[in-house]
Amino acid sequence: MAELRPGHPGGTTWRNRPEATTVAGLILCLFDLGWFAIGLVHRWEHPIVGWIPMPFGAALAAYACRRVTRRGDLARGTRRFWGQMGLACAALAVAIVSNMIDAFHDGEPTQWISTRTLAVYMAILGVAIWALLRLPTWQRTRRDWFRFALDAGILLLANSAFMWHYSLRKIDLWTSQTGSALPTVAITLVASISMLTFVKVAFAGAGEIDRRALHILSAGVAASAVTGTVSVFIADRPYLSSTFVAATLAAAITQIAANRQLRAPQDGGSVPAPARQASVLPYLAAAGMSALLIAVAVPGGGEVLTIAVCAVAMTLLVMVRQLAVLRDNGRLLRTVDANLRQLRDYQAQLAHQVSHDTLTEIPNRALFNERVTAQLAAGGPFQVALLDLDDFKVINDRLGHGTGDALLKVVSRRLHQRLEPTDTVARLGGDEFTLLLPGRTADQTAALLRDLVGAVQEPVLLHGQDMVVRISAGVTTAKDGDTPEELLRRADVAMYSAKQGGGGRSTWFDPMMDKLADADAKLGHDLRQALIRDELFVLYQPIVELPHGRLAGVEALVRWRHREHGLVSPAVFIPLAERNGSIIELGWWILEQVVRQAAEWEREYGPLAPEKVSVNISARQLGEPGFAGRVAALLKETGLTPYRLVAEVTETAVLGTGEALDAVHELHQIGMRVALDDFGTGQSSLSLLVDTPVHVLKVDKSFVDGVTVSSPQAVIVDGLIGITDGLAIEAVAEGVETAEQAERLHAVGYRFAQGFHFARPMPPEDVALLLEKPAVSVAGNLDNLN
Ligand code: C2E
Ligand code: CA
Ligand code: CA
Repeated sequence: MAELRPGHPGGTTWRNRPEATTVAGLILCLFDLGWFAIGLVHRWEHPIVGWIPMPFGAALAAYACRRVTRRGDLARGTRRFWGQMGLACAALAVAIVSNMIDAFHDGEPTQWISTRTLAVYMAILGVAIWALLRLPTWQRTRRDWFRFALDAGILLLANSAFMWHYSLRKIDLWTSQTGSALPTVAITLVASISMLTFVKVAFAGAGEIDRRALHILSAGVAASAVTGTVSVFIADRPYLSSTFVAATLAAAITQIAANRQLRAPQDGGSVPAPARQASVLPYLAAAGMSALLIAVAVPGGGEVLTIAVCAVAMTLLVMVRQLAVLRDNGRLLRTVDANLRQLRDYQAQLAHQVSHDTLTEIPNRALFNERVTAQLAAGGPFQVALLDLDDFKVINDRLGHGTGDALLKVVSRRLHQRLEPTDTVARLGGDEFTLLLPGRTADQTAALLRDLVGAVQEPVLLHGQDMVVRISAGVTTAKDGDTPEELLRRADVAMYSAKQGGGGRSTWFDPMMDKLADADAKLGHDLRQALIRDELFVLYQPIVELPHGRLAGVEALVRWRHREHGLVSPAVFIPLAERNGSIIELGWWILEQVVRQAAEWEREYGPLAPEKVSVNISARQLGEPGFAGRVAALLKETGLTPYRLVAEVTETAVLGTGEALDAVHELHQIGMRVALDDFGTGQSSLSLLVDTPVHVLKVDKSFVDGVTVSSPQAVIVDGLIGITDGLAIEAVAEGVETAEQAERLHAVGYRFAQGFHFARPMPPEDVALLLEKPAVSVAGNLDNLN
């Protein structure tokens, strides 16, 4: 608590060291109280000495209040209050001086008070009471006001009795001493009002003012008001004045209260203290009244005294009884409170459960939708992003669900750590996360997403295994009329596009994507129809032996003649079929066509039939349970020698799932050959060549393209042939378009090639023509064909 506070005057530690001004104020106060006390038994020759320190005490109090007003971290109302108290203290200094001038106005000391002095005193009390009354209240129910009225009534009654007994009853005596009845009346009035104030503050609270400071201050006001009435007892000591006690106490106590507020923590009073069950004030008043009753009855003695004592005793017993009831009520309330609190805890737990994801503890879809709805209602720009881990299924399948769950937790933590408290990250389920990002520009959001994608991709050590996961994000900005569903849909479309682009990135939604998605959906629908309508057919592209160009095999390539769009490239519809799942059906149709065709060639041409018939197998197809078994059945049914059939699979397909890798092994076991397609475009893991039964390596066209110039590709093409030779793997160069490329490839050791330079994909009938003239180069034969 002793830390420095900004805006605090002085700026040094003020907690434990009493300040010089506090010490000075205390000394002045003690001096005057002592002066007054001694004055009761000793006649002061130089009464002025008692007066001198008092204005300084008031000035010190004013200074203390002023310091509070400069504490910038306090609430405005609090500072205003202390400003008014400071003003009252400054006026007190003036009033004391004025009072002192009155006391010596005709040479001899007197207790006479001028109207001027009285007016200033009244003004001071007025300011203090006004400041106290202006403090905000927070209890305003009717019952509260009723209790307030009761308390106030009790206190006023007691106060009036005292005032009457000790002051007003003797107004003649007092008037003869001071020359006016006004002071007595005024003091009585002020005492009553301050009592009221006192009750109000005790009852209604102090707003943001430090409660302890306010209690001290209230005590000061009360003490000062009460001691003001001692005038009556010192009427025979004109060299003394009630001011010695009343003003001194008022100043000193105000200074203490102000210092207390200065040290109070910023939010010390801002939390409303629980409403007190019982204020002690009415009890104090009743006790005071009882004491007064006894005091008045004692001189009468006898019956009056007996009855008075009985009445007081009864009052006391009734009070004790009431306190006992209050205590019981309090206990009951506390039990109810505790039960309620527990109920609220349960409720909170329940609310948490229905709105949060159990695995990651972050908000779930319901809460996310709720927040997006609220954000939409609140207006203002914001973005929604959808994030999806790339190849999460692979991790789950290969490493188990335990690892998958642990990974999801890591990812959710990494996302959460990089967001602002105003953002929301939620888990929709599976490996999908969503973000609600308010208050950012598009650029800021883009930067944040880059940061998030990067953060997720940092290596994770899970169950002793170091892994790198990638995440794709789609993001969209909310606009008028959006719903949470629509926002998520757009983010999803964008995320999908990010995946299409290779994953590990974030992509903004573009209305074009919707159009593409629509077209995609339509084409997907058409593709399902295409099989029924017989719009698909298979072409075969020769694979030739170098350098002479003799036919060594063929690669089956599917074609789609769309009734509206004409020929649609497999580069377009195969990925589409993979996305919508129709690749399974389509793949089987192709495989059947190819195997039947190859079997026919085998029957017709015997040893002259194409030695290798390659067919492309998509990743999804390869992962289909029982894939190899079905192929084996097909081979058996058609009678094709399995060795002639080559399954072309890509590296990513094989690495994708455990099932795919198993399928490759099974295909090898049933006697088929496996070609690794598009080598060089994926991860190009050479270890795959060693670990999996690969017979053919198809070197991607992008490498072949660079083979005739000095390029990194050329170096790789050179290097690869060494490796494949070493592993007894056949290398096939794809996409050979020029004689120069063919020559160069042959020169570095390639024995097989495929490409437009030799032949384009052709219908099976054309392949048959080639088979009939086997000794000649494919290209030469084709020339004859044309
Ligand atoms: P891919 O497996 O790499 O097939 C080779 C592609 O290169 C074929 O394109 C072929 O026509 C083309 N090509 C051959 N020589 C040259 C050349 O000298 N220059 C150029 N520029 N291109 C050449 P296509 O037929 O359009 O097939 C594209 C891709 O579609 C294939 O790439 C393959 O991944 C996929 N695909 C084609 N047919 C099937 C199929 O029946 N099943 C599956 N699953 N995928 C297929
Ligand atoms: Ca291929
Ligand atoms: Ca290829």
